[in-house]
Amino acid sequence: MSEKKEFKTESKRLLDLMIHSIYTNREIFLRELISNASDAIDKYHYLSLTDEKLPKEENYQINLSVDNKKRIMTIEDNGIGMTYEELNDNLGTIAKSGSKEFLKKLEEEKKKDDAKNIEIIGQFGVGFYSAFMVAKKVVVETKSPYQEKGYCFTSEGTDTYEVEEIKKENHGTKITLYLRDNQEEDNYDTFLEVWKIRELVKKYSDYIRYPIQMFVTEQIQDKDSEGKPVEGKYHEETKLETFNSMIPLWKKNKNEVTQEQLNDFFKQKFDSYEDPLVSLFVNVEGLISYNSLLYIPKKAPYNLYSEQYERGLQLYTKGIFIMDHCKDLIPDYLRFVRGLVDTSDLSLNISREMLQQDHQIKKIASSVEKKILQELERMKKEEYEKYCEFFKEFGINLKYGVYESFGAKKDSLKDLLLYSSIQEEKLISLKDYIEKMPKDQEFIYYASNKSKEAVEAMPQLDALKKKNYNVLVLTDDIDEFALDILGEYEGKKFKSINQGDLNILNDEEKKVIQDIKDEKKSFLDALKEALKDKVAEVKLSERLVDSPVCLVSGDGLSFEMEKVLKSQNQTNFKAQKILEINPNHELFKALDHVYQTDSNSLNDYASLLLDQALLMEGMPIENPVDFSNRMCQLMIKAASGEKKSTEEKIDE
Ligand code: ADP
Repeated sequence: MSEKKEFKTESKRLLDLMIHSIYTNREIFLRELISNASDAIDKYHYLSLTDEKLPKEENYQINLSVDNKKRIMTIEDNGIGMTYEELNDNLGTIAKSGSKEFLKKLEEEKKKDDAKNIEIIGQFGVGFYSAFMVAKKVVVETKSPYQEKGYCFTSEGTDTYEVEEIKKENHGTKITLYLRDNQEEDNYDTFLEVWKIRELVKKYSDYIRYPIQMFVTEQIQDKDSEGKPVEGKYHEETKLETFNSMIPLWKKNKNEVTQEQLNDFFKQKFDSYEDPLVSLFVNVEGLISYNSLLYIPKKAPYNLYSEQYERGLQLYTKGIFIMDHCKDLIPDYLRFVRGLVDTSDLSLNISREMLQQDHQIKKIASSVEKKILQELERMKKEEYEKYCEFFKEFGINLKYGVYESFGAKKDSLKDLLLYSSIQEEKLISLKDYIEKMPKDQEFIYYASNKSKEAVEAMPQLDALKKKNYNVLVLTDDIDEFALDILGEYEGKKFKSINQGDLNILNDEEKKVIQDIKDEKKSFLDALKEALKDKVAEVKLSERLVDSPVCLVSGDGLSFEMEKVLKSQNQTNFKAQKILEINPNHELFKALDHVYQTDSNSLNDYASLLLDQALLMEGMPIENPVDFSNRMCQLMIKAASGEKKSTEEKIDE
């Protein structure tokens, strides 16, 4: 009995793309089907080691065959097969994360050009559905060792598929592709040729650990009774040929592996359509031994920082796949690293809980971490531009690394951090910064704001600019927290340009300020009194040159940190507000004059001063209506004063 079913919507779209597109890379269908077969054998093997009910299998194999007359190709494995439910779930619904991501990407980019889309597909790897790029009809016969019956899935790539019960002796899956009709430029018959299939297996699936076999018939020249070849006489011989070398890429000799192979492996394994930025081939032997392939992608996946993102490396032991996304192999701050680890030091039936405790795993993880950091250091030294590209995409994670470890990792991470700064176009390291410091500079200065432009507009920068001190520009939420944990770099403490004392004045300059402070004490006290509920202090500024006022925070919590904490709903942390006034500014003198002549309006001026400073800091003002009213009054006053003075002039 056969049942007709509908594909799920997403699957339909994918099928549609597969079927209706001209496609130059359609040959990847074979790699996808072989890769599924290999995964299925992996699963069987792993289960048979831990589940006594499954018969042990000695001869794992993936068999290919063609029938030139019927124009069909088959791919058969003796892996885990699929139950009835699995068959519907897996092939009736798009299962593969890569395909989902692919469709999502299409959705985002709203690309209507199918030819282009399909080019991307080739690099994504969309699994089973790629069969429809070459086949007009696909038949999947499968049997799970956990079910009595076998099942057959048939689809012609339209909206529906059929599933029926079949007799099948052995566990595993056989896929039959009915090749599409040849078109002018598209000759599907090539996929029936042995040399082509052999070439494709070598190219895409050489490292598959199970033999990919095919019966190959060759024309052999006849020999005479003495064993000499006979001119013009041939006979056919058929033998089973294995096409792949079966050595996993990561088990090969390092110098046999090309960059291209590493890149291809990455794209296939991790569903990427781009080469990785970094690929590392690691082979460690000694107290611990493992082989590993480690990759840093060019771009962060869209969900890297969300909860759905599963970090971790694939874990193999003795070439047998154990699990995807093993978190214990990589610290959280390196979550962007993809790859796999194969070690002979683990037991097969290790559980996830046991892994966490496992000393071998811990040692491997710390070795993997070291390898990655070493590579980053090398890249920073030898390929700075590439390192900057990396840092712009993933640098924030390294800052998290400093913060999350409470500083435990700061020594290995601090030299990998890069910052933009007001004096340089390119990103610089902390070392670059201190190497260029003028002799009299004591601190490493930084400024937090939403962008470099915003930092450049900060009034607090005045005095530092004048002194020709560079200032690091911090734009990530984590930045100040990470610097706080670092504390210092090579003996130089970090100092925010809008926090605490700047410590940049010499004794003479300090004396000038002190003198003004003494002289204007009562005026300053009056300002303080006017703002006493709103700021912790009113001070003469050492950092302002051109601007009249600014707001700074006291030592401890900064305004940026307050904002970040607030965004995480931690509202009981408040930065201390200090209002600084520039004693050399016109406004200071004007207000002093107000204080002397019209002290009643000083309160209004003081409030305006504070609101102005708040606005410049990008902070909300307490009462916008009051602010506006005061501004209004002041403008009326100024305008009528102006009018009066012009009238007076005319009178003269
Ligand atoms: P992916 O392999 O990335 O999950 P596919 O679309 O290629 O995506 O396959 C979907 C699912 O179908 C697989 O995850 C697997 O469970 C099942 N499957 C595909 N091919 C086979 C096979 N040869 N044997 C057993 N299961 C298979």
